[in-house]
Amino acid sequence: MTKFRCMQCREGMVRPMTGPGRTTWMGNLRELLIPDHIATLACDSCGAQYIGGEAASVAEAVRPAYEARLRELAAGAADALVRAGTRSGDLERLLGLSQGYLARVRSGKAPSEALTLLLILLAEKPRVRLAEAGRLWARASGGRRTKAKRAKRNRAVRAAA
Ligand SMILES: [Zn+2]
Repeated sequence: MTKFRCMQCREGMVRPMTGPGRTTWMGNLRELLIPDHIATLACDSCGAQYIGGEAASVAEAVRPAYEARLRELAAGAADALVRAGTRSGDLERLLGLSQGYLARVRSGKAPSEALTLLLILLAEKPRVRLAEAGRLWARASGGRRTKAKRAKRNRAVRAAA
């Protein structure tokens, strides 16, 4: 690895560095700790971070912390929804998840960021947002067909024919 002059401060040299307290991001999660022994490129004067040949190994090294954080956030939100009165199975049906999916998240499966975000949003106002979600799915499915609505629709169809 060749050293080069820092483009931020134009004084320090950018070189591979190891050690504690370095963080990076993955997806939407920030402040993920880079393991001490993994080298990153940084300026020895101003500390500016650079993407280098080690980017793949940094991503690989940080992924377990990233996935653990997603699991923690998703499981925490799912637990809050269950405490608010939702059954885990009903929540899985509402979100189109397979049965037992949330139990697998609790025991180690990494959820997507999209699912994690959705669970967090639902858990912020469980009753209101679960009811909204139910209404949205009902509307997307053509709304609830009551006997009266069906009769009205059938009359309209007959009238149009
Ligand atoms: Zn610098």
